[in-house]
Amino acid sequence: MRGNVENIDLGTQTVWGGEDEYLIQGATQVPVVHSVGFGYRDLDEWLDVALGKREGHIYGRNTNPTVHVFEEKVRLLEGAEAATSFSTGMAAISGTLFTLLKPGDRVVSVKDSYGGTNKIFTEFLPRFQIDVALCDTSDYEQIERETRAGCTVLYLESPTNPTLKVVDIERLAKVGREVGATVVVDNTFATPINQNPLQLGADLVVHSATKFLGGHADALGGIVCGSKDLVEEIYHYREINGATLAPMEAYLLLRGMKTLKLRVERQSENAAQIAAFLQTHPLVDEVFYPGLETHLHHDVAKKQMRRFGGMLSFSLKGGFDTVKVFLPRLRFAHLAANLGAVETTAGPPRTTSHVECTPAERQAMGIPENLIRYSAGIEDVDDLIRDLQQALAYAEEATRVNSSQR
Ligand SMILES: *Cc1c(COP(=O)(O)O)cnc(C)c1O
Repeated sequence: MRGNVENIDLGTQTVWGGEDEYLIQGATQVPVVHSVGFGYRDLDEWLDVALGKREGHIYGRNTNPTVHVFEEKVRLLEGAEAATSFSTGMAAISGTLFTLLKPGDRVVSVKDSYGGTNKIFTEFLPRFQIDVALCDTSDYEQIERETRAGCTVLYLESPTNPTLKVVDIERLAKVGREVGATVVVDNTFATPINQNPLQLGADLVVHSATKFLGGHADALGGIVCGSKDLVEEIYHYREINGATLAPMEAYLLLRGMKTLKLRVERQSENAAQIAAFLQTHPLVDEVFYPGLETHLHHDVAKKQMRRFGGMLSFSLKGGFDTVKVFLPRLRFAHLAANLGAVETTAGPPRTTSHVECTPAERQAMGIPENLIRYSAGIEDVDDLIRDLQQALAYAEEATRVNSSQR
């Protein structure tokens, strides 16, 4: 053991956090333990481990050494007492909700949560007679009112996907706690480098580790962090229901996380410069980025975030027709549904985060059809801006030709 690593800064934590006890035979990297079973010749010891009286592993669906290191690293970064992982972000979110809720309960959340999360609220929870109140994300008074009316879970996300709305976590978590609700925050977009919801009063923080935590778009995973009591309940749900994170995925996520702070700082810087550039372009209708002073809740973002993250979105004049001409011209962006990777990705929410929704549902969530979600990678920002410039110029020309032909 190299001693206590709790009191070190985030960048050092991403590199060293959680690793000490699993480095075997001098290996400097965490081993990938593929074994499903963990054997014991001493039956008393086996029993003690099975009963949780002694540290150790029994069976791969429950715990695994490589997976444990991943959980420890995120736990330390979020400043949590405990953490448990899942096979995907959605498994973490659904596992958390189904652990906390039972028929007759009520959930308060926001309209523009992640598309998959929104489907849990509108399609799956109602099947179990769970009442869901989805509020206007920017209307803090409405969220407070609905929370005060009583709820078991207050579920927040900030910034939101894809319109980058910001909710005041501290203010709303306080109200949630007053009514005895468990306050859950999806911190995927901000990452623990830019925002720590537990320090703002949330009870649980969830992540799609698939995105920024892993950062290389090559592994799916999810995690939830919070108090020991709550996380134990959620772990129990996952252990039985079986959405376990695989050891190889845990390793890839861990390897990605070594550079989490470097990446997120760079991505935040790139996104800020790109947002400022897009705001000045005549073909751009609106830019959504919490770091812009024109953002509705820039003051709240400034209060609760260290930087404003690598995600932004913008709408183009001329509707989806312009989007269709513009996007394929981008050279340094995968047109793909993932985000938070070292490579820039871009796409319309109607084919990415909110593909599960109908046009009417997207409209109700305030997601314009001409919106583009942009996840800034770690490339040199001048190249990204030049790339956007040339694609915008092309789209401008193409749409002008089209409209003059009409
Ligand atoms: C991607 C994402 C999820 C779901 O994560 P998966 O790993 O794809 O299951 C949840 N919340 C947010 C904000 C996301 O971006």
